[in-house]
Amino acid sequence: MKCLLCKGTLHEERTNYIADLGKCVIVIRDVPALVCDQCGEKSYSYHVSTRIQEIVNQIRGVVSGIAEVTYSDAA
Ligand SMILES: [Zn+2]
Repeated sequence: MKCLLCKGTLHEERTNYIADLGKCVIVIRDVPALVCDQCGEKSYSYHVSTRIQEIVNQIRGVVSGIAEVTYSDAA
């Protein structure tokens, strides 16, 4: 796969995804992302971004402040 911005090569890397929802911040650790070797742009596969949305939707409303979850642990 190639980077959409610079056509650099993407490699898989575990990153932290941070969702700032105003009232609370959700940190999801160890999210598998595709990172560009050249410009550092991060992208997520369709599967992963869907999963991120599910996790965020589950946690938001329940938590105020900072919530931290690990991607593989989140149900
Ligand atoms: Zn790039």
